[in-house]
Amino acid sequence: VGHELVEHATSRSVASAVAQGPPAMPASPGLDAYLARDGYAVLRAIRTAGGDERERILTALEAASLRGLGGAGFPASRKWRLVLSQAAPRHLVVNADEGEPGTFKDRHCLETEPHRVLEGMLIAAHIIGAEACWIYLRGEYPHLHRVLAREIAALESAGIAAGMPIHLRRGAGAYICGEETALLESLEGRRGWPRHKPPFPGEHGLFGRPTLIHNVETLWFLPEILGSPEGASGFAAKGRRGHRGQRFFSVSGRVRRPGAVLAPAGVTARELIEEFCGGMADGHRFAAYLPGGASGGLLPAALGDLPLDFGALDAQGCFVGSGAIVVLSDRDDLADAVRNLVHFFRDESCGQCTPCRAGTAKAARLLEAPVWDRALLEELAQVMADGSICGLGQAAMNPVRSLMRFFPEAVP
Ligand code: SF4
Repeated sequence: VGHELVEHATSRSVASAVAQGPPAMPASPGLDAYLARDGYAVLRAIRTAGGDERERILTALEAASLRGLGGAGFPASRKWRLVLSQAAPRHLVVNADEGEPGTFKDRHCLETEPHRVLEGMLIAAHIIGAEACWIYLRGEYPHLHRVLAREIAALESAGIAAGMPIHLRRGAGAYICGEETALLESLEGRRGWPRHKPPFPGEHGLFGRPTLIHNVETLWFLPEILGSPEGASGFAAKGRRGHRGQRFFSVSGRVRRPGAVLAPAGVTARELIEEFCGGMADGHRFAAYLPGGASGGLLPAALGDLPLDFGALDAQGCFVGSGAIVVLSDRDDLADAVRNLVHFFRDESCGQCTPCRAGTAKAARLLEAPVWDRALLEELAQVMADGSICGLGQAAMNPVRSLMRFFPEAVP
């Protein structure tokens, strides 16, 4: 059952998307509907404001404590300042290659409020003085490609893009292309292999130029934060337990009402289940959860009251990342779910570095044994965490480590 559950969350191949046929075009609000709700007013005000608008906005991002919501959680204002400290020309890249298993909140943002994301994108591009915007969209979202192509054309013909070139590009099903430097390689027309960092994209990004890369959801919050003098403090005040801001959590698995929910930073898994998702599904008792999709580890229900935010799960060796909460029950086979996650990483490893390429394959073999060699698995996990180039290899063994630490009775 665990296998089925996570398989469902990871079903992302182009082949399966084609086999099922393209999803119907969602009724995403168009430009006129967004303008009728005062859409693009924030962008207009920023473009026409005099004085030191740039510093005001950077200060507001700091007051809001806005962080990159693609998974890394790097403070947005520091990214912007790094890019601005570099000589022009600069680029703005929107990471819409949402591929973390269990994550679907960017799809939700783009389906329900495409222009709010586009407004955030144009605000960021204006402030950093970008010469072009690039949107890298997950290939398995063909319906959103149609929506974005249509709405970008509407923006351009209405003059709102103000001459800013907006390039819409499609991924081709590789999980690794959601990693920002692999994404840049892919945008430049090469194989999506992550780059070594430093230099960071803010210094040496797309086509060697300083590049600000933001996830869809991060941009979605900009019009709200920058739309009024109280926007930043109001956003920060929405957190719980001393955490600041709010964000979308993609909640899936054994809950009654799975979906993308807007919740305070610092909310707990138990609160997400009970308060936002209608409780556990009938016949299921909360047993465990993935706090951060495939990469963020696995926690027991006994730790379901931990706040979910960047850095809050460090002591457990877990992280929230892109906010994909997969809820498992007493009817799920946790070892099988972990095996499935490792197979996912083995299949999605780009193969560039040995610790990840060979390590994920070896881990998958070790997990097939009737009795797991715990010491060898732990040693392998450490080598992969220490020696892999990017987060895929570094985090691939998190579910295995979590299972051995928190669920020793479930380890074969
Ligand atoms: Fe590629 Fe894995 Fe190395 Fe990342 S860690 S560069 S995915 S082989």
